[in-house]
Amino acid sequence: MKTIERVLVANRGEIALRIMRTVRRMGLSSVAVFSDADANTPAVRFADTAVRIGPALAKASYLRFEAILEAAKKTGADAIHPGFGFLSENPDFAQAVIDAGLVFVGPTPKAIRAMGLKREAKALVGQRGVPLVPGFDGGDQSTAVLKAKALEIGLPVIFKPSAGGGGKGMKIARAPDELDACIESGRREAQSAFSDPTLIIEKYLERPRHLEVQLLGDSHGTLLHLYERECSLQRRHQKVVEETPSPALTPETRERLCQAALEVGRAVDYTNAGTVEFIMDAAGHFYFSEMNTRLQVEHRVTEQVTGIDLVEQQLRVARGEKLAFTQKDVVQRGHAVQVRLYAEDPANQFLPAIGPVLDFWTPGYGGLLVDPGIETGGEVTPHYDPMIAKLVVHADTRTQSFATLARSLDHTSVLGLTTNKGFLARLLRHPNVVSGALSTQLIAEEMNRLSEPADVERDRLAAVAATLFAFEARRSTDDLLPGALTGFRNNRFRDQRHEWKRGDEDVSVDYRELGDRVFQVTVGGSTGRWRIAAACAPCFELESPDGVIHRLRVVTNGETAHVHTERGDVVLREVPRFPVAADAAVKGGFMAPMPGKVVKVNVKDGETVRRGQALLVLEAMKMEQTTTSPTDGVVKQVLVREGEQVTAGQVLIVMEA
Ligand code: ADP
Repeated sequence: MKTIERVLVANRGEIALRIMRTVRRMGLSSVAVFSDADANTPAVRFADTAVRIGPALAKASYLRFEAILEAAKKTGADAIHPGFGFLSENPDFAQAVIDAGLVFVGPTPKAIRAMGLKREAKALVGQRGVPLVPGFDGGDQSTAVLKAKALEIGLPVIFKPSAGGGGKGMKIARAPDELDACIESGRREAQSAFSDPTLIIEKYLERPRHLEVQLLGDSHGTLLHLYERECSLQRRHQKVVEETPSPALTPETRERLCQAALEVGRAVDYTNAGTVEFIMDAAGHFYFSEMNTRLQVEHRVTEQVTGIDLVEQQLRVARGEKLAFTQKDVVQRGHAVQVRLYAEDPANQFLPAIGPVLDFWTPGYGGLLVDPGIETGGEVTPHYDPMIAKLVVHADTRTQSFATLARSLDHTSVLGLTTNKGFLARLLRHPNVVSGALSTQLIAEEMNRLSEPADVERDRLAAVAATLFAFEARRSTDDLLPGALTGFRNNRFRDQRHEWKRGDEDVSVDYRELGDRVFQVTVGGSTGRWRIAAACAPCFELESPDGVIHRLRVVTNGETAHVHTERGDVVLREVPRFPVAADAAVKGGFMAPMPGKVVKVNVKDGETVRRGQALLVLEAMKMEQTTTSPTDGVVKQVLVREGEQVTAGQVLIVMEA
């Protein structure tokens, strides 16, 4: 038996935190490592000790063996858990950890190496009689041979980087004339992502399901399965929703799948936690796809349904213990489903997004488990995977777990950056998802139905909330500075107008305070009484004219207000009101409200303009702001040129007075 007292987690974000939670529960001590970009993250704050290991660039920090081993030495860590991604499937790293006299929490370097290349792994597994997708894994990589093999297998085929992972670099060819381009770009991407241009070819299955089996083995010859997970809901070949049990399996198929996975594990004398992945066609035939020799993002659903903490088992196995349970002790109870909350834009091909996290809040629902990677005040940076958190629900039935998770997402607030939150909630409610008719193509095929529907009422509610929130914020500033800003109070019973933009749409809100926290508000052509029922930023509760109380969350950032409603989050930009008469120095002059760059001048000296006509466009704080004419009139003089940098308060245009 080896001693483990202090575990260093060679990772970041939600998985580092998740591992350390178990480390702490086991009475052990945890060490986090962090790059310059991650100093301010929940994992670093949670750890008993944290060590800075280098700059943001992963190659210079999380991927640097010496930096990690040095951190372990410095802190007296006796074990290293690699999490997933980064160094988790690098056999040389596992070996280096062992050579340094530390415990590597994972399988043997030999098993990692054997499963590392898809080509070798498939050859090994095929010998054991596990079904493989018809394909070509042979050594000859010449274009002519690859093309001939593709045609022999029969189109469509999929080319995959042999050294690949994370869905990267896979190319589908449906017609013979696409083969050259697929091979060429596949090689190029394989080389750049994995430093190895080798491609394998597989028959491309239409609308397959992704199923995988969790394995757990000790170093005394016991290898168990912890049943399956279904991860068919994918975008860009990457999972976003994972569940167990799979609605696609009969008890017989489940048993055959789990036995096939055990056979794969035995082929490499597998120890510790690992996952065998399969794809399954519509007829229920499944084929081995790869083995991941590490913990996976979706391991939580297995934990919930089996009641087994996989990280705890990993640590026990790593210190040489025998598994304390047998196969028949592992049972599936209820249903668990997980979503990956990402900073990404579903409306724009799921491209990763970055930005500040102005608010991150999840509801305290029974059965909801959250593994956060960031918190309010943090930031999603371009350096790493943009996952914000995992949200998991365990319930008695599949229907219940999906409904609760969808509702949890409605009530979760992530403000400040673009996320897939609304998309995930719609996905969980899609009829095919609810009925369990899943496929890896579902998201791509159903994109129209999954896009965000227009919701004018919600947008108006958000605009009223943003307006009254700003009013309330100004008032509390007044209260804090007695006498200093009383001017505002003098105006409070006058009609005021707040103009917002949501995307390209204008939303204006006219309001007047009638009495304590009650306002007469006109929005979208209808006038009524609204009341601030509670305000404790960022919480904001508003009673609309029909007496309904809306529980919202509001944060502001410069000119932008972010409003969380349970029907989706709304971003509103204050329409910049360039001072006109307010500029005493130059009558009719338009000033820059903040430093920026003139990107477009729309008018010339002497030009007649109409009310609302665009005069010029200024780029400030990475946003474009259009200055419009508040009245019909004539441009007296344009004082700036396109491309010119301007300072705050600089006069840009003067109108005829
Ligand atoms: P990676 O190692 O990059 O994650 P996988 O081999 O695990 O790649 O495949 C990832 C996903 O790509 C699968 O879940 C499936 O959606 C799709 N895929 C892979 N192979 C095939 C295939 N032969 N036919 C259809 N889809 C496939």
